[in-house]
Amino acid sequence: MATGKINVSVENIFPLIKKFLYSDHEIFLRELISNATDATLKLKHLTSIGEAKVEYGNPIIEVKVDKDQKRIHIIDQGIGMSEEEVKKYINEVAFSGAEEFLDKYKEAGKEAGIIGHFGLGFYSAFMVAEKVEIITKSFKDEPAVHWICDGSPEFTLESADKKDRGTEIILHVAEDSTEFLEEAKIRQLLVKYNKFMPIPIKFGTKKETLPKPEGAKEDEPAPTKEVDNIINNPEPAWTKQPTDLKDEDYKSFYRELYPMQFEEPLFHIHLNVDYPFNLTGILYFPKLSNDLNIQKDRIQLYQNQVFVTDNVEGIVPEFLTMLRGVIDSPDIPLNVSRSYLQADGAVKKISSYITRKVADKLSSLFKNNREDFEQKWNDIKVVIEYGMLTEEKFFEKAEKFALFPTVEGSFHTFEELEAKIKDTQTDKDGTMVVLYASDKEAQHSYIEAAKTKGYEVLLMDSPIVPHLLQKLETSKEKVSFVRVDADHIDNLIKKEDTAISKLSDEEKDQLKASLESAIADKGYTIQLEAMDSTASPFIITEPEFMRRMKEMQRTGGGGMFGMGNMPDMYNLIVNTNHELVGEILNTKTDKKRERLINQSLDLARLSKGLLKGEELTKFIARSYEMIK
Ligand code: ADP
Repeated sequence: MATGKINVSVENIFPLIKKFLYSDHEIFLRELISNATDATLKLKHLTSIGEAKVEYGNPIIEVKVDKDQKRIHIIDQGIGMSEEEVKKYINEVAFSGAEEFLDKYKEAGKEAGIIGHFGLGFYSAFMVAEKVEIITKSFKDEPAVHWICDGSPEFTLESADKKDRGTEIILHVAEDSTEFLEEAKIRQLLVKYNKFMPIPIKFGTKKETLPKPEGAKEDEPAPTKEVDNIINNPEPAWTKQPTDLKDEDYKSFYRELYPMQFEEPLFHIHLNVDYPFNLTGILYFPKLSNDLNIQKDRIQLYQNQVFVTDNVEGIVPEFLTMLRGVIDSPDIPLNVSRSYLQADGAVKKISSYITRKVADKLSSLFKNNREDFEQKWNDIKVVIEYGMLTEEKFFEKAEKFALFPTVEGSFHTFEELEAKIKDTQTDKDGTMVVLYASDKEAQHSYIEAAKTKGYEVLLMDSPIVPHLLQKLETSKEKVSFVRVDADHIDNLIKKEDTAISKLSDEEKDQLKASLESAIADKGYTIQLEAMDSTASPFIITEPEFMRRMKEMQRTGGGGMFGMGNMPDMYNLIVNTNHELVGEILNTKTDKKRERLINQSLDLARLSKGLLKGEELTKFIARSYEMIK
């Protein structure tokens, strides 16, 4: 037996590793299985080029948990190591790798979160083990060796009688890590990190039902057989060529990725490049709700089929973090902080490649089957609108396929909308006025008023609409978006036949004075307008600008401080040509006049959805009084 001392610069590196990666101890399993996979793939390569004169066969990797002995075994059938190789690769390479990792991690770790603590390698075993053994036999004709180390720089190395090629790693699990002796825990980690690794991974056995033998009785149970329980799918869809996959294959891969997700994805995008960077993957558009917050962290990042993280922040543009799927790239640096990542050249290229592919896919869906695209619009609009808002390059492409639905359920591109309304819907300065509603029910009476005039009303109801409209107005010339209840329709859009007021100036002054005295305390800005006698007598409006600013602030528009506490601002428009308004003016007693005014105002508030609580109760009681 030989003993030796690993050449260390820090006396004891393991407590340091443990301390720095305190929350991520579980990655040891991924690291050890990655090594086992590499060793197996190396053998595959060597046999394929004729350098290794052995049968490659169908190697697997086996993971075993021995709770009684407090051990975890990881066994591969890969290239194995000779004594010289253990000395070199384990005592030197692995160790200096661990040291290097630690140095880097100390730097990057200061800025929050390096990604997945990838590549710590063999020594991560010491995060959970107080002693580690390696029993290994090289594919070359050399004796097997047994290496033991308890985490201190001392190790022992002796010969072993292992007969088959490959490596067995035995972890003697430390007292503070016994959770890793639970079968369920190991299974969970295998599924999390190794679900798509390229070599089959066995964890226990399972019963497989065999077909009943011929002539078996009805109630006779079908025979079963114990078979290896293979945890992973070594050939996930994203590693295949798009031409070899059918739509159903993509769907079943989606189910494999998200077993708890019952809804099918709307469509997928297969990513596949090898120059100037290497990246494969499949992205899916799920049905999205209007809630932006709950749908992140669904894209999984892999490196050579090894799971790294499901937080792809900094790697894909933010708007695409709402998608699902997988990206796999060896070119994303992982042991760096996220803030460094965003400045990394390769990552920038990857991010813009993904954005372009998504835009191209949407564009082709739009062109090839517009009807279908329209049907999906509601489920995908948040991503597209958010992308338009945050990525200039995406905006340029999306302008051609972004849809503007009308309240009646037809869809226009911006260009089509413009062609339709630019002659009929302009204000007095010639700016095109795009009317929209955000809630068909709540704004019903306003929508109807606009439709009666023959105007087009859009339905724009996602939470980022105020931001998007702001962006559209600044990027296009002479366009303004106005919600239907922002002002009276005739004030928004230039009208040919301006109605003449039935009231004289004197009467108007008198009317205004009465209105002011009756509702002075209610905070409305009163405007008298001569409109069609058929338009409502009292209309409450909410100016676009203030409302939009407040909405933008609520949904996270940076830089608009102090607006949140501003009271809502409403105008009261009174139609001087309406019969009821004439009646208010001519009413003899002040008391009756006030009653008419208040009842009319409440009706207007009801129509705007502003009448609630006690006021609504009183209004209803009062109305019953009037009609009885
Ligand atoms: P890395 O895998 O990044 O090189 P590690 O510290 O994980 O770093 O491993 C160091 C070296 O030890 C590997 O490069 C490999 O040569 C050798 N090694 C580790 N695990 C195995 C294994 N299961 N079979 C064969 N060689 C291995």
